[in-house]
Amino acid sequence: MKSLIILIGIFFISACKQETQTVNLGPANINGNSCTIGKWTIGSGLNLKMSSEFQSDFTSGDFINGLNPLEQAAKEWNQAISGNTFFQIPFSNTSVTSYNGLSEFRDHEMGIYKSHQWFNNVSSNALAITQFYGYVRSDNQLGQYIDLIHADIIFNYRDFGSEFSMQPTAFFGYDVPTILVHEMGHFLGLCHDSTHTSIMRPYYITTQRTLFNYDKTKITDLYVNNRISSMNKSGSVISASISTKSNLKEGELVSGTIEYKSNGKCHHIINGKQVYVH
Ligand SMILES: [Zn+2]
Repeated sequence: MKSLIILIGIFFISACKQETQTVNLGPANINGNSCTIGKWTIGSGLNLKMSSEFQSDFTSGDFINGLNPLEQAAKEWNQAISGNTFFQIPFSNTSVTSYNGLSEFRDHEMGIYKSHQWFNNVSSNALAITQFYGYVRSDNQLGQYIDLIHADIIFNYRDFGSEFSMQPTAFFGYDVPTILVHEMGHFLGLCHDSTHTSIMRPYYITTQRTLFNYDKTKITDLYVNNRISSMNKSGSVISASISTKSNLKEGELVSGTIEYKSNGKCHHIINGKQVYVH
């Protein structure tokens, strides 16, 4: 069953909410994805909290040097750039267990959550989503990007609760830390990439809790070199390009949601309208 399931991440524009404009993720970037890249001001590390509901999913054998599997996923990103801390670990806990609407997640804390109900404007085939908020900025090297100010990662326990696992077998289950490593890539601002061996490939194959060299290069280019890179198959950087201009307005506050789907179809939805399925 699992071998038949290809998970495709899709770009999805969340429904309008109050003062926030929804993101038109724009025309294809250099990787052929419809995505405007994002970026944080990291400081001493982002305080991404973990829902206390995950605690009971861990067994003692899951811990490495005192870190649970979700913290190990964060450590993987922390180690991508020497001397850099993207995420504060160990995580603080958040006790939020349910929100009815996606906009409610834009609260005083950022978290990795289990949602036991799902949202009208998000596919029931989504395993997890990353929802982000930020301001549209432009940079000479980076082009137009989203200056991120808030984001959350939300797992769909309503539809996949019985299949999520910290120890999946080869034949059953979705590995939660694998999904989290991928979602953390979105959280940090990365788009999907289907042309390279990458944790940001738009589909789930099997357990993959570590980054590939390409992922490390991409995140280093974004945060250290302030550019978007592309590499050939042998791993050499062949081009660096600014992202394609979209119709976003400079300084505009935008929100967006990226779904990681399980039905093998990629839906592009812009401003509430489905524009492309493949
Ligand atoms: Zn994705």
